[in-house]
Amino acid sequence: MTVDAQPTGNTKFCPECGGNMSVNAGACPACGAPQPGTTPSAQVSPKGFVPALVLCILLGGLGVHRFYLGKPISGIFMILTFGGFGIWALIDLIRIAVGSFNDGDGLPVKSS
Ligand SMILES: [Zn+2]
Repeated sequence: MTVDAQPTGNTKFCPECGGNMSVNAGACPACGAPQPGTTPSAQVSPKGFVPALVLCILLGGLGVHRFYLGKPISGIFMILTFGGFGIWALIDLIRIAVGSFNDGDGLPVKSS
């Protein structure tokens, strides 16, 4: 049995590059992408949940929360479109509130 054997119960495909890897690996050996579920405490954005939520409520139309969370490019687009005419800002607010908004490093912004 070799490392390159076809997928079994002990291997999975990397969501980033599609490479075959161990389910116990903390990061993909091929592309280095961190894998969810292995170290939950390290998979949350270091940015604060409450500040992000407050910024989105108060200044969401200007994309200030996106600058705060390390997404300046989309933040600029947000300014140019006035927060997607309010709709984009509202969607961001909901996503932050339910913990499904990712920061510039792809880590979820959560209260924990
Ligand atoms: Zn990978």
